[in-house]
Amino acid sequence: EPSESLPVPKCNGNFYKRNASDVVAIARAAFRSYKTKSVEFRRQQLKNLLRMFDENAKDMEDALKKDLGRHRQEASTLDVEYGRNEILKALMHLDEWTKPETPSKPLVNTLDKIRIYSDPYGVVLIISSWNFPINLVFTPLAGAIAGGNCVIIKPSELAEATAQLIAGLVPKYLDKECYQVYLGDATETAELLKERFDYIFFTGSTTVARIVHAAANKYLTPVTLELGGKSPVFIDKSADMEISVRRILWGKCSNAGQVCIAPDYILCTKEVQENFVSIATKVLKEWYGDDAQSSPDYCRIISDRHYNRLMNFLKDKRNIVIGGKSDAASRFIEPTILVDVNPNDPIMQEEVFGPILPIVTIENPYEAINFINAREKPLVIYVFTKKKATKDLFASNTSSGGLSINETLFHFSVDTLPFGGVGFSGMGAYHGKNSFDTFVHKKGTFDRDFATVTEKSTSFRYPPYSEIKTSF
Ligand code: NAD
Repeated sequence: EPSESLPVPKCNGNFYKRNASDVVAIARAAFRSYKTKSVEFRRQQLKNLLRMFDENAKDMEDALKKDLGRHRQEASTLDVEYGRNEILKALMHLDEWTKPETPSKPLVNTLDKIRIYSDPYGVVLIISSWNFPINLVFTPLAGAIAGGNCVIIKPSELAEATAQLIAGLVPKYLDKECYQVYLGDATETAELLKERFDYIFFTGSTTVARIVHAAANKYLTPVTLELGGKSPVFIDKSADMEISVRRILWGKCSNAGQVCIAPDYILCTKEVQENFVSIATKVLKEWYGDDAQSSPDYCRIISDRHYNRLMNFLKDKRNIVIGGKSDAASRFIEPTILVDVNPNDPIMQEEVFGPILPIVTIENPYEAINFINAREKPLVIYVFTKKKATKDLFASNTSSGGLSINETLFHFSVDTLPFGGVGFSGMGAYHGKNSFDTFVHKKGTFDRDFATVTEKSTSFRYPPYSEIKTSF
């Protein structure tokens, strides 16, 4: 049964303030009580979390509607159900993951016991983003709980309704000392970051990641940084254009482009660009009608700051071939495609993170690869082609968090694939077993007996040393 409820922090723009050092001290004491070392305790917490999802999925979807104008289908599949599935997986594999591993060993260690223990780090901080505010809190949380850690959860203040819901629900279902929600914006998070943590898992922008990394540096705290960046799409004319357009636009229009792995820009030839635009016109009309603003399936931009940032990209209207309409009051921006974009244009200098898709024309895949490699490493590279040689060319000659061929976003949901960035798109990876591995220290253990045979077979190492022993 849910434990009796704690007062829900009041959100009045400034958020209810809890003292960061108190929150961490409570978690630290809870960790030192060894409670979370028990696999049974972890199992119970994961079961509680699952029940929390089962009993509150509707409220979660309502909060996402409020924060992002998100349709129930998108809220459920990309956010709520995703988080729930990761909890379920952690629960199903808990015994297997937490068991000490027995690696293979060299012949000389035949008589020794070699094990790898998965030790919890201790007190973990999870700082999250607003764009998938359920998934991006509970997916890492499942791994952190399975790993036996105590956790401070810092949801994004921008998805305010969801943050409030999380702050109200978590203490009703989970151990109140081991798992705490701390609400706040940049100022409060800065307070939190002054504290000592044993691991920090951050999802957000590269700019804030630097602040988090610098704070972690003080105590040499290990970090996972799940960031974003400009994820390019390459399309050649061998691709099935009708299907490619749908898959790319779905990746770009879900959550109105506010997805870390949204296709950021397209690299293709002039001919492919023309074809893409003509099919995109038809597809967008089919999906959202003549007026995307009145479609219940299309999200809104999260904040005025992001709305204004995106509108700046559209100041110069010369390249807009599809879309371009907007409404500041409801933070609506129509799905918009820009053609023949100059690589020096402002939109090509930062992650778009919105429903605007620039196309830069190139002549061939080699030029596309050089274009990508001359920039920061992306979170994902999308390649649309039927040609095996082109797929291999990208796989072998580019570096990115992930590579997805002929599909967008779906790689995120394959829990056996590590999900994460490289370089400016992040460090570390999670999902499925990778989440568990993220939140544990792999401790190698060596165990030798006192038997005469063991001692004799290894006693050549003792002095007095000799030439014969050296050459042995
Ligand atoms: P953000 O960096 O502005 O905020 C992330 C978190 O940091 C929030 O909880 C926020 O309260 C906190 N924060 C903000 N400013 C801070 C400061 N000065 N000091 C300390 N904490 C601070 O990012 P965002 O706007 O929430 O998210 C957008 C970015 O996140 C995009 O770049 C996107 O690509 C990336 N992202 C990545 C993933 C991924 O899984 N790789 C997922 C979602 C979003």
